[in-house]
Amino acid sequence: MAHAQSIAARLDTLLRTSEIPDYPSALNGLQLTSRRDVRRIATAVDFSSFTVDETIRVGADMLLVHHGMFWGGAQPLTGTNYERIVRLITSDVAVYSSHLPLDVHPEFGNNVLLARRLGLTPSTGFARFKTIEVGVSGEADVPTSVLVGRARVFSRECGGDVVTTPFSDERRTRRWAVCTGAGADSDTLREAMERGIDTMIVGEGPHHTAVQARDLGLVVIYAGHYATETLGVRTLGERIAAELGIQSQFLEAPTGL
Ligand SMILES: [Zn+2]
Repeated sequence: MAHAQSIAARLDTLLRTSEIPDYPSALNGLQLTSRRDVRRIATAVDFSSFTVDETIRVGADMLLVHHGMFWGGAQPLTGTNYERIVRLITSDVAVYSSHLPLDVHPEFGNNVLLARRLGLTPSTGFARFKTIEVGVSGEADVPTSVLVGRARVFSRECGGDVVTTPFSDERRTRRWAVCTGAGADSDTLREAMERGIDTMIVGEGPHHTAVQARDLGLVVIYAGHYATETLGVRTLGERIAAELGIQSQFLEAPTGL
C-alpha cells in the first residue's frame, strides 16, 4: 500500500509525464489527492459521474483515467461538478489522469496496444504532435477486410462498433497507421499520404475525413474513440497495482461511447 502522492510520482516516472507535451486541459498527473493509503485502484477511459460512483461502489481509493477531471476546460464547481467532487473527497478517493503520455507509451500506450490487438507490429511512429508522434505505424500484408473484422470484434467487445470508408473485397493493407481517439483529421490524413500509408485505424474523426480519405484512396477504419482508448489505462492500472501488491479494476462505460 502507498499514498496517492507516491503512486502518482511512480506513474509520472513510468509515463515520463514531464517530458511529453499535451493539451492544457489534460493536466497530466495527480489531479485530486487523498489522505489514506490506496488499497484498490479503479481505471476508466473517462472521468465522469458514472466512473466516480463506480470507483466508490467497488471500494477503490484511486481512479486512473485517460480523459481527466479538467478535460472539458475550466468550469464552475456547481451542480454535477460540485456533487462528484464532494463524493470523491468524502470517500477520500484520489484521481490521476494521463492523456498523451499514456497514448505514446511503448508498453502501456493505447496506440501500441491497439496495434498489437489487431495483429499488427509497429515499426515506427505516426501523428506528429509538437516533439512527439502520438500514434504508431508499420507494414503488413493482410486483406483490409480481415483487419476490419478484427477491429469490429474488438470494438464490439467494448460496446462500440466499426465504420469504414469503402474498399474492395480484394484490397490488401500493406502500410498501416494507428492513432487512437480522435485520430482522423486533415493533418493525419496528409501525414498518411506523405508516409505512403494505405490504411488508417482511428477512434473517430469528423465527416470530412471520410470524404477526403475516399478521394485519396486511403481506407480509414473508425473503431470508436472509447474502444480504442480502453487498453492503455487498463494495462497501466494492472501494472502499478501489481507493483504495489493491490488490485486494479477496469470500469467499463455502460454505453461503450
Ligand atoms: Zn481520447
